[in-house]
Amino acid sequence: KPIEQYSKQEASAAALKLRTTLERWSQAYYTADKPMVEDHVYDEKYRDLQTLEHAFPEIITSDSPTQQVGGQVLPGFTKVTHAQPMLSMGDVFSFEELADFDQRLRKNVTTDFDYNVELKIDGLAISLVYENGIFVRGATRGNGTIGEDITQNLKTVKSIPRRLKEPLSIEVRGECYMPKVSFAKLNQRREAEGQDAFANPRNAAAGSLRQLNPRVTAARNLSTWIYTLTDYAQLNVSTQSQALKRLAELGFTVNPTAKVCHSMPDVQSYIETYQAQRDQLDYDIDGIVLKVNSLALQAQLGNTVKVPRWEIAYKFPPEEAQTVIHEIEWTV
Ligand code: NAD
Repeated sequence: KPIEQYSKQEASAAALKLRTTLERWSQAYYTADKPMVEDHVYDEKYRDLQTLEHAFPEIITSDSPTQQVGGQVLPGFTKVTHAQPMLSMGDVFSFEELADFDQRLRKNVTTDFDYNVELKIDGLAISLVYENGIFVRGATRGNGTIGEDITQNLKTVKSIPRRLKEPLSIEVRGECYMPKVSFAKLNQRREAEGQDAFANPRNAAAGSLRQLNPRVTAARNLSTWIYTLTDYAQLNVSTQSQALKRLAELGFTVNPTAKVCHSMPDVQSYIETYQAQRDQLDYDIDGIVLKVNSLALQAQLGNTVKVPRWEIAYKFPPEEAQTVIHEIEWTV
């Protein structure tokens, strides 16, 4: 029946059921790196929970998946407490919802602003810490507050500079991914050896990074796109687009497709271009990210408990119905 006709008890019971299902799927996806369902199936159920909680705010619990960054720390890894939380991101699934996001922001700020629009890389979020220009620590996002120390594994990833072009002490963040070609070869090999194939490049990258033996990671041919840092003052920049330029100058691999868009029609045409070219890219993308370009405005807008208010993901529709469903199997 329609949500408007739910009693509070019914809403609460339905939310509990949704949370239980989402948590089971999240456990498989984040902890075991073996999803039980396709992302769009997860996204639809997550949306149902959001809608319920929006209609009945009193049923929201602090441990609801809508209030927390998904992910856990695997046993065996040293824990890293992030200096600043690594957040998730709000998402929309249509141009109408994207226009609503834009309208909401424009109501809240008095100045005009641009967006920096970027590809949403479907990999694993990583944090890289440099001291005086030397790579000293790398971590996963984990639950957003505490991640896994994967420094030794990340040292095997060739695109991650061991030494920056300038002796800066900074923390940068980005996405570690497995190129599609490497993914196909890896799965061929695994199947030939009688091992389970990975469901997709994202899970293969996550499984390859969250290994206790760095030699396994080294053999997996991972790569990175770096897109942010925690302290912009260090780079003396005032926009996201300038930050990307400086990150590239320091030696990081920065995706070349980012574009400053002045209007929503510009954003829409960027989305259409990359949605059409998606298959030709050598890495998986699951959408487009819109970021308010001005860093001062980003700071002014701030974050919710789970997501920044100044950015949103436009998620692509699912490519085709796929049926890979795996039993949970632990990677370490
Ligand atoms: P998300 O992956 O949808 O978005 C946030 C992440 O996007 C960031 O943490 C960052 O790592 C990444 N990102 C990629 N490109 C970026 C760029 N250019 N700029 C900034 N960030 C960029 O959100 P999430 O909280 O990490 O995960 C939730 C999503 O995971 C769900 O929407 C669902 O699709 C998927 N999921 C799937 C299952 C499943 O069973 N299939 C289970 C749980 C979650």
